[in-house]
Amino acid sequence: MDPYRGPAPKGHIPASQRIPAIARPFVSARALKTLDAVEKFVEEECIPADAVYNQALGETTQERFSAHPQIMEDLKTKAKQLGLWNMFLPKNHFSEGAGYSNLEYGLMAEYLGRSLTASEATNCAAPDTGNMEVFAKYGTEEQKKKWLRPLLDGEIRSGFLMTEPQVASSDATNIELNMKKDGDYFILNGQVGLLCSIFRTGYSNGRLQKWWASGVGDLRTKVFLVMGKSDPANPNKYKQQTVIAVPSDTPGITIKRMLSVLGYDDAPHGHGHVFFDNVRVHKSNVILGEGRGFEVVQGRLGPGRIHHAMRSVGAAEKALEYFLARVNDPRKRPFGKQLSEHGIMLERIARSRIEIDAARLAVLNAAIMIDQGDAKHALKEIAEVKVQVPRMLQEIIDRAIQAYGAGGVSQDTPLANMSSGARTMRIVDGPDEVHMLQLGRNENKRGKALLGKIEAQKQKTQALLKQYNMQERDILQLDRRSGTSAKL
Ligand SMILES: Cc1cc2nc3c(=O)[nH]c(=O)nc-3n(C[C@H](O)[C@H](O)[C@H](O)COP(=O)(O)OP(=O)(O)OC[C@H]3O[C@@H](n4cnc5c(N)ncnc54)[C@H](O)[C@@H]3O)c2cc1C
Repeated sequence: MDPYRGPAPKGHIPASQRIPAIARPFVSARALKTLDAVEKFVEEECIPADAVYNQALGETTQERFSAHPQIMEDLKTKAKQLGLWNMFLPKNHFSEGAGYSNLEYGLMAEYLGRSLTASEATNCAAPDTGNMEVFAKYGTEEQKKKWLRPLLDGEIRSGFLMTEPQVASSDATNIELNMKKDGDYFILNGQVGLLCSIFRTGYSNGRLQKWWASGVGDLRTKVFLVMGKSDPANPNKYKQQTVIAVPSDTPGITIKRMLSVLGYDDAPHGHGHVFFDNVRVHKSNVILGEGRGFEVVQGRLGPGRIHHAMRSVGAAEKALEYFLARVNDPRKRPFGKQLSEHGIMLERIARSRIEIDAARLAVLNAAIMIDQGDAKHALKEIAEVKVQVPRMLQEIIDRAIQAYGAGGVSQDTPLANMSSGARTMRIVDGPDEVHMLQLGRNENKRGKALLGKIEAQKQKTQALLKQYNMQERDILQLDRRSGTSAKL
């Protein structure tokens, strides 16, 4: 029976039967099977493991960023046995992945987004996913052997280091880290600018830095993809940058501190503030070529941007589940009624359903567009979901928190932690404003043509009035002259 029609069916409907009708023709039988397996794995193995994993990380900063709980390795082994591994690498662009399309992975990522552990357990966690795409797309055979293979096997992790504290990094042309050629090597180093010296809070010591380097806290992170300026004098500001793979044990790198996200440490991968001091890296580690860093960054962020959106749809479903559970708790009866009997709660549930479903359609549409061309072909759709989905997620988590009262902002539900993650989504991979600007500019390109079209339509109306022997008349025409008095 179609679960979308008729009375609400009893019992659980598997994920494969809940796919939006619009996406169904694009999903293979194999992917449907995997989707159900992902759902089962996340619900039955990962979500119960989340709290255990978090507790196993330990307590102090040193502990939490050195830990590698056994439960994660056990989940990875189970996931591999179930064939739930590397589903993110799309089949029409890469041969190294599990052979699914972006759309198929999108449906799966929704379930991964419900759990703290599921993405890493299936080797589909950021920032490794984007970094693996970079190595698969642009890497030399040697780079693939050294880093892509162990990343694909889940043996190491990786970081992507672009953002710098001293510049507005949402505009990547501002990136300052200096990459100076020295024979066959690049030396990653440099002086901080004036603004940086003013801004620093004792963390600079005159060295160039990277921050918000996700993944660098994890001791298993063995390679950083670092963006720097190798040709700052190039008149083309998009050719000044190079991305280079830097082994994390290269002398001169200091992970000075980890950054909190609205109070959460996101251990063990975390987000690091990293210093570079005369870091020597062989030129064979350059990705794609000198001066092609912009291309690498752009290529990396296409599908990656919607991976967040896909997981966010799942996180929103989880928040709604918590919301529904809370309003149906028979012990909680404010003003003599269970919360689900208060109309405002039902309205919030309905709104949440509408907003999640709308966001999912937009995300799946973006995925289909990428599958049918590439990320460039789907820039508009990617930007749309990059902006739309985090706002939806924040709103739904907020409603769920409200339904829990004070308990909602505490550690007793995952909602507070989820809320911090959702908030960051409006900043990571470029802040909303950058995408809005691009979307607005592109949409606005139609403006002049539309002005002409509307004018032409008006002229045609005039011609039709003439043809039908009619005088133009305003629909509220009154023609009242001064001195007219009211009839009593
Ligand atoms: C949890 C988390 C993880 C991250 N992981 C990584 C990572 O792994 N690697 C990495 O390199 N970076 C990472 N980042 C950094 C992130 O990509 C940057 O913070 C982001 O690109 C914005 O750069 P910025 O912080 O320098 O802000 P700025 O560029 O200084 O921008 C500040 C604000 O200015 C406004 N703004 C910017 N551009 C415009 C515009 N065109 N129009 C109007 N307003 C504008 C926006 O409100 C923006 O938020 C992460 C960030 C977070 C929060």
